[in-house]
Amino acid sequence: MTVAGTAFLRSLDARSRRGLLRECRSLAESSDGDLAAEFLAEQPTHAGRDAGLVRLWAQRASEFGAHLDVEASSGPPLRVFERTNGLGQLLLARFSSRPVPTVELYTDTLALADELSAELGWLEWFPLGAVRQAAMAHEQAHCHLHQQRAKRELKRAVDASAGRIGRLRFLAHVVGADELAAHAHAQRVAQLGRSPLLLSAALGLAADLIRSN
Ligand SMILES: [Zn+2]
Repeated sequence: MTVAGTAFLRSLDARSRRGLLRECRSLAESSDGDLAAEFLAEQPTHAGRDAGLVRLWAQRASEFGAHLDVEASSGPPLRVFERTNGLGQLLLARFSSRPVPTVELYTDTLALADELSAELGWLEWFPLGAVRQAAMAHEQAHCHLHQQRAKRELKRAVDASAGRIGRLRFLAHVVGADELAAHAHAQRVAQLGRSPLLLSAALGLAADLIRSN
């Protein structure tokens, strides 16, 4: 299938291209739950933590995101800009809260995502155009999770203990939980067959190749 986009894959020599596709396919052998747990375990603050506990946090954060009602957010409307040069930074989209809530969509990375999905036979999971919708939903989730009430709700859902004083139990902020929640929200909104974490990891491999060429 031909995809109008970066034509990045076609520009690679046959050997690099085969190598990239093989590595991407081996990523897909991990379940979405495994990918989420790995993502959290890779955060430096979680180094050395119990793997079962980190997996549980990842599961809870993802479940929270999958049920997130961003429409109910009373925040200000988002401004949306399109730009290029996302590949070097491996960015599909970016949210910034100041001066006004804004989403930047990186069209070069979105085009590569479509190209890679088509080449890998992953369009059933990530249909053309759906990644853009997912990227928007992902950033909208970040915007929502920026609000104090949503932050507290996520913390309660992940339920990681920071310690106790007497009968009072304190909840810890789990680094990376908001990212997993945003991915799960995006997957539901864009009706993706697999977690966007899989496509992000595949794009990461492609970006490594771009940098080394
Ligand atoms: Zn994010």
